[in-house]
Amino acid sequence: MNIIMLGPPGSGKGTQGQHLIECLGLVHISTGDLFREILKQPEHPLYRDVQVLKEGKLVSDEVTNRVVEDTLKKLKDAKGIIFDGFPRTTEQAQALDRMMSSLNMRIDAVLDLNVTREVILHRLLGRRVCPGCRRVYHISQGYTVCPECKVPLKIRDDDNEETINKRLDEYKEKTAALKDYYREHNCMYISLTIDDVSMTSQEVHEQIIQEFSKRGLV
Ligand code: AMP
Repeated sequence: MNIIMLGPPGSGKGTQGQHLIECLGLVHISTGDLFREILKQPEHPLYRDVQVLKEGKLVSDEVTNRVVEDTLKKLKDAKGIIFDGFPRTTEQAQALDRMMSSLNMRIDAVLDLNVTREVILHRLLGRRVCPGCRRVYHISQGYTVCPECKVPLKIRDDDNEETINKRLDEYKEKTAALKDYYREHNCMYISLTIDDVSMTSQEVHEQIIQEFSKRGLV
């Protein structure tokens, strides 16, 4: 089963993707994580192309599609893939359709996480990430090191209010159009609204599984 996670920055794509990986045995493609890895390697051929990430702008479609295609080829025997943060533009969605069909794969479902701005700011300004296993935590949980790998947790460079606002604008301008693209696509479109800051990631996960099971996906 191949699933695309749609939703603005801070909507929980990474966290919910992680839950689904653990529960359904899927693998994860996060373009944000792939780009952050490249940013750590000044000698990487795409190092300069991904610098825009620091300003909250999107990496070009050409570079993004190339990175995803290379990753996808390595994962074609996986039980299923979760796409997190990709596609983000209609051009990327069309490119993904071409890549999937050339690998004899298809998108089965799109999970659209509709999260209010208030919830997004609460989450992103308090987000702490493990640089080892990439698990995501919130400052309210009180961890300073990852409980799994014991590595100190970090604040992402782009999790500050100015960059968050730019990323939300980019989402509205370019990515929101994907909702229409996938509503008309030959796959299931599942939309969840999250407007309560106190809702835990486990509660959201349970709702997702309920929606999947209603549709016979699990
Ligand atoms: P994320 O981890 O998904 O929030 O992505 C962090 C940043 O990586 C974004 O703000 C963009 O600069 C870049 N990025 C991630 N995915 C894409 C994509 N599909 N297309 C273009 N840029 C991307």
